[in-house]
Amino acid sequence: NPSRSIVNFSAGPSALPYEVLEIVQRELVSFAETGLSVMELSHRSATFSKIIHNAETLVRELLKVPENYSVLFLQGGGNGQFASVALNLINLKPKKSADYVITGYWSDRAAIEARKYGTVNTVLPKTDKYESIPPLEEWNLDPEASYVYICDNETINGVEFHEDITRALNGVPLVADCSSNLFSRPIDVSKYGLIFAGAQKNFGPAGVTLVIVRNDLIGHAMTECPTIFDYKIQAGNNSLFQTPPTFGIYVCGLVFEWLKKHGGMEQIGKVNQMKADLVYEAIDNSKGFYNSPVVAKDRSRMTIPFRICVDGKPNDALEKEFLAEADKKNNLKELKGHRSVGGIRAAIFNAISLEEIETLVFFMKDFQQRHQN
Ligand code: PLP
Repeated sequence: NPSRSIVNFSAGPSALPYEVLEIVQRELVSFAETGLSVMELSHRSATFSKIIHNAETLVRELLKVPENYSVLFLQGGGNGQFASVALNLINLKPKKSADYVITGYWSDRAAIEARKYGTVNTVLPKTDKYESIPPLEEWNLDPEASYVYICDNETINGVEFHEDITRALNGVPLVADCSSNLFSRPIDVSKYGLIFAGAQKNFGPAGVTLVIVRNDLIGHAMTECPTIFDYKIQAGNNSLFQTPPTFGIYVCGLVFEWLKKHGGMEQIGKVNQMKADLVYEAIDNSKGFYNSPVVAKDRSRMTIPFRICVDGKPNDALEKEFLAEADKKNNLKELKGHRSVGGIRAAIFNAISLEEIETLVFFMKDFQQRHQN
């Protein structure tokens, strides 16, 4: 990212492509021929209609979304969808029950929310150490479940699904929280009943929540479902039932154009894999100085938590020093791990370039050399 020397490794709100920020800056006070800021445009105006239509078209193009899916731009973030998913889908089958595959903090939160509206069956044995995804053969799946829920990338724990799990699901619709990995690689949307993601990690500002939902799953909301959370109402009104997050949708559209310009999902996916490989290599070749707790096959390409160890144990003082040096001397910002797990976390979303990862890895190796006994 040649345009600025600061690198933002925050897990959300996260780095946005600098080129996009510059376009936003240019257009902020006067958008196209309107003479108005995008923020001032009516959501019913022809200009905003074009903006939201363009954003939807790009989502469909980039992710190859099949015709029988609706693309919704909503509000309420990931947590809003934890409730929405259950409110809309848990009554799909008479048992009013859903299967939750808990592989980290966020799928756990989603299950807690869903329990308010129906029965939640936890597919995996309970654990507080999220370091791998158990083999499919060991999952306790219920063929009568209304849906199976996963968090495709656990942002805090760094556990990501890399395998097509739908073969084990007996046709039960798969719901995926892709908040921290949508638009990071190609995805076969047809395998999912519903995908949702908050924009603030990989494709826009906080405030926009993208939902991609198969049309036959729309129209089954519980009567208690708030109108703004009802997918049928939102799809029927092209996401304009209420005032949508207009400015955010505009920025998402710019990010989608940026993704297309940079080669689309295939190319973006390749670069993201290279980036992740560089960081994991630095960890795995550090002779135990850096330690990633996640088993290799389930490691996230987007959010990489790791510890700095002395004599095989995490060392808080050294981690503090690492973070301070990274920030103050190297402009590598926001590398602190989530408060629930501690340590370091590198969130390396699309806006972080390969060169910026090389800078991080260079710093990691240099720090190790100076501090490993
Ligand atoms: N799901 C995932 C995977 C997340 O990483 C987060 C937040 O970091 C959430 C859900 C919650 O999103 P929000 O803060 O938009 O409610």
